[in-house]
Amino acid sequence: MSNQPGIESVNRNDSAKTGQDHTVINYGEQSFWLQHLDITAFDFPYIELLLKQSFIEWHDEAIALPWMTRTQWSVYSSNGVKVIGDSNSANSENAGSGTSEAMSLCLAQQSPAVIVGSEHVNVGSHQQVSLAVPLFTRKNRELFAVLNCTTSLEQYHPDDLDLVLAAGLHFVSCFYRQFEFLFVSDLFHGQSQAEREARRRNILFEVVKRLHDKIDVDAVLTEVFDSIAEMYPTAHLELLMSQDHRTTNPKVKSLLFGQDRDDLCVRSFMEGRLITLENPPVMNEGPSYVEIAVPLSGKQGIYGVFHITLLKDFKEEIDLDLISVLSDTAGTAFENAKLYEQSNVLIHELRLINELTRRLNQSLKLKEIFQFSTQELLSIFQSDSCSILQYDKVKDCFEVMSSNIASIAKEVYATNDGFCGLIYESKEPVFLSDYDTYSTVTCRIMEQSNARSLIATPLIVNGEFIGIILITHQSPHFFSYDNYKLMQVLATHIGLAIANATLHAEVRRMANRDMLTGLYARRYLDEAIHEFQKTDPCGSLIVVDIDQFKQVNDTFGHLQGDIILKQVSHIIKTSVRSIDISARWGGEELAIYFPQYDVMQALQVAEKIRKRVEEETDPAVTVSCGIAEWSWFDDKVTVESLFYRADMALYKAKNNGRNQIQVEDVT
Ligand code: GH3
Ligand code: MG
Ligand code: MG
Repeated sequence: MSNQPGIESVNRNDSAKTGQDHTVINYGEQSFWLQHLDITAFDFPYIELLLKQSFIEWHDEAIALPWMTRTQWSVYSSNGVKVIGDSNSANSENAGSGTSEAMSLCLAQQSPAVIVGSEHVNVGSHQQVSLAVPLFTRKNRELFAVLNCTTSLEQYHPDDLDLVLAAGLHFVSCFYRQFEFLFVSDLFHGQSQAEREARRRNILFEVVKRLHDKIDVDAVLTEVFDSIAEMYPTAHLELLMSQDHRTTNPKVKSLLFGQDRDDLCVRSFMEGRLITLENPPVMNEGPSYVEIAVPLSGKQGIYGVFHITLLKDFKEEIDLDLISVLSDTAGTAFENAKLYEQSNVLIHELRLINELTRRLNQSLKLKEIFQFSTQELLSIFQSDSCSILQYDKVKDCFEVMSSNIASIAKEVYATNDGFCGLIYESKEPVFLSDYDTYSTVTCRIMEQSNARSLIATPLIVNGEFIGIILITHQSPHFFSYDNYKLMQVLATHIGLAIANATLHAEVRRMANRDMLTGLYARRYLDEAIHEFQKTDPCGSLIVVDIDQFKQVNDTFGHLQGDIILKQVSHIIKTSVRSIDISARWGGEELAIYFPQYDVMQALQVAEKIRKRVEEETDPAVTVSCGIAEWSWFDDKVTVESLFYRADMALYKAKNNGRNQIQVEDVT
């Protein structure tokens, strides 16, 4: 025992000091250092709960002792405030000033105090004895509490102070047991906190490492799903994307706006922050569940919202910080992967545009451009159908120039028909995700190809509307918005190619034609006959000359002369086949070449023309014709010789009195 009277901590290895025979117990290293831990005066204001718990424990252990029935106990703090006690002890009615006197004395002297039968204690004819013993810390022996015992004078025994001293020892032992338990559980709590933090860092580290390896958007999302599933195996997780995102992952869905503004995920998206919602248990049974909505955001914006549903586990708090950091990391990785993907798509698209324009520019033939564009678009967009329609300004209708749907090839549509009508009206493209659900117009192309997805784009060149491209697919929602944008770019190039080829064809047509009569020019006729002579077995040429035309001019004027020239040309055009070539040979001399006709066949046509001119021209004129033919059997086949011989025949017709036809002299 220490020199100080009262109760102090007991060093279990020093039984001689306590005067009691304690069994030496080896508590091991941990118990050794734990026993050296102690409280100091600084801790005293905070030990109230510890004193209470110690008292309860002590009381539970001591209750079986015989003298407990005749005594009441209480504990006071080091500044004399009652902490806990038997319900009818210190603060009860029969607790008198004896109790506080003993306690005060004990506090003042730091030693046991006994107050017997104080005059103020005499309540209800019972005199009381109060015994108070100081309780000292085990290391520095500072008084940290007072244990008080009250008994009636009749039941008081002279050895009672020893009992109270023993009880004090017991109490201190209980106190330190509680203290050590508290210390160890604090330590354990700290340890588990640290472990949790370490685990959390570990998860984050692993996730970040794996996420940064991913350059594929879907792989990033799968990684995040796996990580959250690892942290919360029972969690239900989905990702609601705000943008068009094509994926095979069933957990990725679309974030639907407008249906419910209060929707947790919509709110999280709008406010750009994590939001939780605690829900009561399902059917009022089992644990409640928590919904968490956390945005998937990067530097450039918010892409979607993770929606996590978790059963609430009261043992472990949901680590919202970790979820938030994880989502931020995922957002950045997603953005990076998306940017990478987009730049790849862009490079791919640029290559595609480059290749398409290069190939388009190689050809100036309209038919080739239509067919090539159709095939390319089918392959680029993987569409079921592709049709290119050209707008015919003269007839004010659309003509299918090329399509992989055989049944509509060469079809003609009115300018108020289906999507063509819609686009003709607005000059804007149409992007339709589901014809069956959303279409406001009926479209034959869609019906005939059983299509549900559509991108229809006007072809506009220099502000002029020249046609429409339509691509379709039988699946709804088949085309992406990126497809739509790419189509607009490609349509510009295709439109330009079509316009160039059309222009080129027009220029060629103009170069080959005579402006006044609309007949072919002489050069064209020469070249065409030359070409025919390479493959055909025979052919005939008629040279037509208006009789006395000089006179016509003189009589009616040059302008009227022109009109007559046009009338004769029209008669010729409408008297021959489409493969025959009628040309203005020069001045008022015209010529017609008949591939594979002999002179007799040509003669019939010439006669028809001669007659019609005589009858249909106004003022009436006549023509003279000379006909020549060529065949494989000729010694020498040339265009010049053919013309010469026809001209000779014409000369003969003129000499013979005009308004007649002469065939070359073959003899
Ligand atoms: P014929 O052939 O019967 O012997 O008599 P002709 O009067 O027609 O004689 P010729 O063929 O020599 O004269 C051709 C005339 O046609 C000369 C010219 O004034 C006229 N002419 C040639 N080209 C045009 C044209 O583009 N417009 C008009 N109005 N006259 C033309
Ligand atoms: Mg003439
Ligand atoms: Mg002439």
